[in-house]
Amino acid sequence: MGCRSRSIWRTYKCILRHRKKIKSRWQFLINEDKASYWRQKAQNVLRRKLSYRSNTNIAKNVILFLGDGMSIPTLAATRVYMGDENVELSFEKFPHTALSKTYCVDSQVADSACSATAYLGGVKGNIATIGVTATVELDDCDGMANTENHVSSILKWSQEAGKRTGIVTTSSVTDASPTATYGHTANRLWQDDTTILAAGVDVTKCRDIAYQLIKGNVGKQFNIILGGGSRVFMPNGTRDRLGSVGTRSDRVNLVKEWLKDKKSQGSDAEFIWNRDQLVNLSEDTEHVLGLFSDNYMPYNLDRNRTLTPSLTEMTEAAIKIARKGKGAKNGYFLFIEGGRIDQAHHQALAKKALEETAEFSRAITKAQELTNEKDTLIVVTADHAHTLAIAGYPERNNDIFGSPGNDEQGRTRLTLTYANGPGHKECGHDFSKDNTADKEFPFPGVYNLTSETHGGDDVAIFAKGPWSHLYSGVMEENVIPHIMAYASCVGKYTQRRRISSKQIKKFIAEAPNESSCGILGACRREELCQMSLNNIEDLRNTLVVNIPDSKTRVSRTFTVITGTYIDLYLNNNDDKGWPYFNKLINEYLHNPDTFNRSTPIQICKQIKCSGILCCIAHKYLLNLFNNIVIIIIPGEYDMHPDITPVGQRARTIDTLETTSNYWNTKAQSTLSEKVNSAPNTNIAKNVIMFLGDGMSIPTQTATRVYMGGEEQELSFEKLPYSALSKTYCVDKQTADSACTATAYLGGVKNNYGTLGVTAAVVRNDCDSMILEENHVTSIATWSQNAGKRTGIVTTSTITDASPAGIVYDILHSLSAENNPNYPFNDLLTSETTNRAYSHTANRNWQSDTDVTSTGRNVTVCRDIAHQLIKWDTGKNFNVILGGGSEKFLPTGTVDAVGAEGDRSDGRNLIEEWLEDRTAEGNTGEYVWNRTGLLGVGDDTDYVLGLFSSGNMPYNIDRDADTVPSLEEMTEIAIKIASKGTGAENGFFLFIEGGRIDHAHHSTKAKKSLNETVEFSKAVQKALDLTDADETLIVVTADHAHTMSVSGYADRNADILGSPGTDDNGGTRLTINYANGPGFQNSSYDYSQDDTTDDNYRFPSVNYLSSETHGADDVGIYANGPWAHLFSGVIEENLIPHIMAYASCVGDGLTACSDALEKMYFMKLNIFGVLFSPNGQGLDVEPWGTPNITSYQTRAFEIHTERFDSNVDGVEQFQIFASPCTNLANNNDNVDTLNIIPDD
Ligand SMILES: [Zn+2]
Ligand SMILES: [Zn+2]
Repeated sequence: MGCRSRSIWRTYKCILRHRKKIKSRWQFLINEDKASYWRQKAQNVLRRKLSYRSNTNIAKNVILFLGDGMSIPTLAATRVYMGDENVELSFEKFPHTALSKTYCVDSQVADSACSATAYLGGVKGNIATIGVTATVELDDCDGMANTENHVSSILKWSQEAGKRTGIVTTSSVTDASPTATYGHTANRLWQDDTTILAAGVDVTKCRDIAYQLIKGNVGKQFNIILGGGSRVFMPNGTRDRLGSVGTRSDRVNLVKEWLKDKKSQGSDAEFIWNRDQLVNLSEDTEHVLGLFSDNYMPYNLDRNRTLTPSLTEMTEAAIKIARKGKGAKNGYFLFIEGGRIDQAHHQALAKKALEETAEFSRAITKAQELTNEKDTLIVVTADHAHTLAIAGYPERNNDIFGSPGNDEQGRTRLTLTYANGPGHKECGHDFSKDNTADKEFPFPGVYNLTSETHGGDDVAIFAKGPWSHLYSGVMEENVIPHIMAYASCVGKYTQRRRISSKQIKKFIAEAPNESSCGILGACRREELCQMSLNNIEDLRNTLVVNIPDSKTRVSRTFTVITGTYIDLYLNNNDDKGWPYFNKLINEYLHNPDTFNRSTPIQICKQIKCSGILCCIAHKYLLNLFNNIVIIIIPGEYDMHPDITPVGQRARTIDTLETTSNYWNTKAQSTLSEKVNSAPNTNIAKNVIMFLGDGMSIPTQTATRVYMGGEEQELSFEKLPYSALSKTYCVDKQTADSACTATAYLGGVKNNYGTLGVTAAVVRNDCDSMILEENHVTSIATWSQNAGKRTGIVTTSTITDASPAGIVYDILHSLSAENNPNYPFNDLLTSETTNRAYSHTANRNWQSDTDVTSTGRNVTVCRDIAHQLIKWDTGKNFNVILGGGSEKFLPTGTVDAVGAEGDRSDGRNLIEEWLEDRTAEGNTGEYVWNRTGLLGVGDDTDYVLGLFSSGNMPYNIDRDADTVPSLEEMTEIAIKIASKGTGAENGFFLFIEGGRIDHAHHSTKAKKSLNETVEFSKAVQKALDLTDADETLIVVTADHAHTMSVSGYADRNADILGSPGTDDNGGTRLTINYANGPGFQNSSYDYSQDDTTDDNYRFPSVNYLSSETHGADDVGIYANGPWAHLFSGVIEENLIPHIMAYASCVGDGLTACSDALEKMYFMKLNIFGVLFSPNGQGLDVEPWGTPNITSYQTRAFEIHTERFDSNVDGVEQFQIFASPCTNLANNNDNVDTLNIIPDD
């Protein structure tokens, strides 16, 4: 087999490649075949996420890593390049991720210049301008010279805070991205005076970028400058030691000037130009200027490894120099750029782009080795996307530079394509003859363009270290530096200052006497009001208390110190203890400068309880309250009075967006929301999972523009938490809706085209399929087992792959009992090799006719419609809404929607469903149109709605009077699910926007975007109808598509229109696909097309009758209980594990079992009380034992279920020990605390 290697990893990879052939021999190594492998992996990640505690230290150091042009598809492609789809780039292991919207004020698609102003200065500007507001247009020297228009960067703010600073890039140090750290310019190309003179601009008024770096106030303070671009620093006609020729007309040698300046300041400074000098550089070097090439540094694949340093080596040197020397005690800020990912993409040299990304990942590994996450915030992001797409459906581990199959003209397709670029080939080109693995091979695009364009889709942000948890959800790019500044107390956020433990001890020591109140009262915010957990770690007993505002549910964070220090005070004078505590809280809560007056305060002194759990708590609470020491020091909220949410403002983009104030206020509003949101650790009574089938990240970006502008937000993009989901299947690089449904509903990855079984089952493998050990159950079944109501809603046929993922699990038990010849094999052949349309075979098996037509015995091989109506999980659904009624009706009959029956067995499954409901004594309603649906009675237990033959119509084609929208179906589903038998246990709903995918397959982008809008409305409806306290809403997609959004259309230009022409003068379109039915010959004139027509098919690189899925990551967006566990880059199969944890269903880790586990630790370790009087509850946590792990210390929480304020002067908490539903569901065990205010 050739798979034996000394490296286990290589062996494993080889086996994966040959898995089909060698399966029987190497079974033991292929763990991915086992459900336990995926479940264990998911449970481990879940545990890690649960143990994670937000790091609220002050970030002494900040490193911003920028992967120029590192789009989300670039990440997925790099993983395969690095070895396997399951590889994680170093920063993909970071705990927190967000999505960044990169558009500029005047452009739909950003360039590195305006983008750098946003992520370094916090303000969006115009394309090709740097470090200036959008008041300054391209080439506007007057505007540039006016310092009022300047946007300063976080490097300047860091210098003002006394920190060391530096920049590193593989591009030239005067290129757009690094320039924003120190420069201000109306044109990114003004890198030397010669260019400015050529533009006819006064060079003494508008200085060139190189001059600004050496002579400008920010640039000249840099301790580290490493990169390429020596030519713009040297006089015209002179050569440097590398032989590069200078380009300056002013005859100034800026390198010499730099050395002279440093010398005159008495500062040690080194100028270097090769790798040896860099690696031998003393760590005590005060200033270093390293220019390793005349322009860009060589690509990593072209680099002479002895002459030119790598990005990793430059990163190592930069950190070592930054952390020593003058100012090092204040920390440092470093900007480190992988600058050539972008340039390789522009040349369509995908191999070089992926290698640059891999090297970027290595540099970040090095930075992690050299820093400590306790005091160093590392943020990794990109400035904009590119148009690279990863097309379906290659085998797992297929060469990323290879082919996933042929197009429908029999020609080789490539996995990687661009929307445009120099790799464009004339029609008929035979890629099978190309050496696509060559690093110089340019990958193809739809249009011929010298330089491939950027993409408009969102890029990812990855963060680790202090305050990294603020990076979550979908945010504007300009929020990035605001969070970094907040975390490191620079810029607008300097008032946060570190308090030494000595000061705290002194304060505590003074607390027992009367004057201590005075001290606390006099506590000046900037002196005493901020401390990091790190600082007082030696005091050990520190907690953060969240006191939520009852109206806004926004928590104000306090730092509470408890422990033995004031024990003496309270022990000595027990009666004075509580008034003291009370007074402190009052003092701060009623300080109008600091707090909302209406925030009530309750002090818990007397506790009555009945339940066992409460009694344990009672005992400890009493014990603790008699001994506890609490000092409250106002925390984060009041630290930032300048961060106030802006109200709804009318959209007057032209004037407002040109000011710094607009962007800063907006960013501060986002920051304020993030800082003040507390994780919700209730039990999720209800879970709603929304699936946008095929809703890729570029689809969302394009939909925003379709909705009215780049700045729009889809409803779920406003949710507080987000993650990226890796969708590959066990045997395929690109997923279909079947294997992904098994992952996101069952928690186990499996093979392409298979549903509800593990990857031990390969297609047509009936023998292994009937083994129960290979079966995967779904969260719908787990929820039903927990007594919850359930339902499914889709705009597709109800028997299609995604909803069927829920039904299938029940096939297993039945097959084991009754059906020895369990017919899974046919269900598994969902896609033929040449027809990429992913739902074909599933559709074939949806009625008995589909089954018999392939020669199967239908009493053995039950069709999906039968399973849905007759088998356990399906028949228990309280809500079934969607299309495809013909699969339920006998041939020769026509139903109310005109569907002609497709069943050969003469059965009418709809009637059978109604009869079954009656037999059970339940009410069931069958509806077939919008009026029927909206008229469903409030007391209806079950509803079956089948609104069309086949898929429901696209929203654009829908008759709004007769056919319900997804939003309307969502509303009714929630109404039915919330009432009736089992409603007290809550519900699980699966709601699918099924036709986003179908529209993409036919490259009808307009319909796809319109379906996405409808999907967004349905999610909004669910958010409106449910309470975030008890309902977890998760929104995701199952896989991507190959659509890209290419540059560079004007801001707000029609997303269905053109951003410009190609090199042949032909019209390009903004939206393109890698493949699909919209393919045209290269000479085709798109200007004659009506691209805004509903049915217009957008073009592609290759011809396929059905466009393929894409392999890039999709987004996950979440709100409600435990939604904060959705963070980072996760495998898709983690999704149901988190939902099950939150809602206490299934047999994995749950919030309930977890609580009981933690109670054990509580008994052993409880030392203190975490007190939050209003709304979100009274929390008890153990802490204080030296060896306790963070996982254990998260402990055990008590939540208020009901809180009536001011009942006869006695505040009453009704609490349940939570997260433990047993108590919550049993009134006998509900514990009551009487809270008597102390006055
Ligand atoms: Zn670029
Ligand atoms: Zn599809």
